[in-house]
Amino acid sequence: MEALRNTLAGIDARADTPFFIGGDWQAGSGGPMLEVVAPHSEEVLMRYPEATREDVDRAVAAARRAFDEGPWPRMEPAERGAALKRVATLLRDRMPELAEAWTGQVGAVIGFTRKASGQVPGLFDFYGDMAADYAFVEHRTRSSGGKVRVVGEPVGVCAAITPWNAPLVLLCYKVAAALAAGCTIVAKPSPETPVDSHILAECIAAAGLPEGVFNMVPGGREIGDHLVRHPGIDKVSFTGSTGAGKAIAGACAERLARVSLELGGKSAAIVMDDADLGAVLPSLVPYSMPITGQVCFSLTRVLVPRARQDEVMDAYVEAVRRVRVGDPFDDGVQMGPLSLSRQRDRVEGYVARGRAEGARLVTGGGRPAEHNRGFFFEPTVFADVTPDMTIAREEIFGPVVSFIAYDTESDMVAKANATDYGLHGAVYSADPERAYAVARQVRTGSLTINGMVVDIEMPFGGFKQSGLGREGGIEGLENYLETKTIYFA
Ligand code: NAD
Repeated sequence: MEALRNTLAGIDARADTPFFIGGDWQAGSGGPMLEVVAPHSEEVLMRYPEATREDVDRAVAAARRAFDEGPWPRMEPAERGAALKRVATLLRDRMPELAEAWTGQVGAVIGFTRKASGQVPGLFDFYGDMAADYAFVEHRTRSSGGKVRVVGEPVGVCAAITPWNAPLVLLCYKVAAALAAGCTIVAKPSPETPVDSHILAECIAAAGLPEGVFNMVPGGREIGDHLVRHPGIDKVSFTGSTGAGKAIAGACAERLARVSLELGGKSAAIVMDDADLGAVLPSLVPYSMPITGQVCFSLTRVLVPRARQDEVMDAYVEAVRRVRVGDPFDDGVQMGPLSLSRQRDRVEGYVARGRAEGARLVTGGGRPAEHNRGFFFEPTVFADVTPDMTIAREEIFGPVVSFIAYDTESDMVAKANATDYGLHGAVYSADPERAYAVARQVRTGSLTINGMVVDIEMPFGGFKQSGLGREGGIEGLENYLETKTIYFA
């Protein structure tokens, strides 16, 4: 934890000025003190004051000025792109801190965060290049002969509101794309995980982005609500739970503020009758419970042909029982704790509900005896789950997987779609084109055939109640553009 200790010491050294507003570290206006807790040890890593409404107002005013009067939206996109690439370089220099901040605050294992933190500079490089290459102005001709320019203009001042499970990656999906588009930003990270957004703000300042382009005010739900309803905000870009997403969409509707939503999931791993188990397990085991199951696209429902249910489940359960649960900073540990004490309560509630509704608990289901500190929970598998059960329908956000048997191919597709969510999914078959035909019938924003891929360079987002809009890829940039049509009469 040495890199994280250094980061925390740096943040502590400017404890009187915890918010990044208008290009400066600024004092707060007396919000209540919050704690950042390491979930594996329950150690308090940091104390800081929550942003108040007044702090949010100052951040919005700074972002507003930067958008209405500052150079950022007016400069050549390639120039913005070069600035984003400078941010990427600075972030890359701090990779050990990014990985440790993620592991320390969330409990995601260090082997994973070392790799996955690469997405943070990766997003700034990707959207930095795209700013230079994207056709912001398209020349068209009317059939009657008149010339037209169709212009992609930045949508304005954006609120970026993010959850705690992958704090900086999820924030940077928004920040890198919105900045490439020419927007300015007020980021409200989750109150439980502010550390890495300090690193981001430091890198943005060091890269010389104009003042007010990026502002950062961590706080909870009430502060988020104030930000969402702020008349100075043109667009809200939200990642979090479906319940909060609905509340935010409702608030935005009142003034037709633009909104995009990345919400919960209940993704299915569809094992077809011809699938080779050896090809299924290497992706199914890690991606059914990544970050202790606290990832929106986790494959939490495993759909298996009834005739192969025992074979698939036995192999999966054997692999899950071998997963090493422990201190997420130990190399070789494969699963850390749940991130929050209240998250463990939530998971325990769902496990009790599963049992009460008649699902068969095959493994796990409780707190591991060997850990008396930290919010640990055993990898848990239920069998004989039917689509009407709560554990098959609701997002648990923990290491709990449900096996659901199907009889025919149409039953398989119907069960895959028997959820209000539609985020991701996997289809396993010996014949990739057969799997593709199934993928086309599943109502989700993305799927992987014979594995698990989510790539920042490709669009990601939800059908149904998993969200609205897309992040990643070109679509992620276009999320932050308004279309303007200029006719030459
Ligand atoms: P949450 O919805 O409770 O909170 C997310 C963020 O929104 C936090 O910063 C919180 O302070 C803020 N917030 C909550 N209610 C708000 C409101 N009414 N107005 C404004 N801000 C509000 O979610 P969480 O528990 O932090 O995160 C877990 C959820 O996030 C899961 O449902 C998960 O699936 C989802 N998630 C989705 C994606 C995706 O890309 N689709 C990625 C990661 C997590």
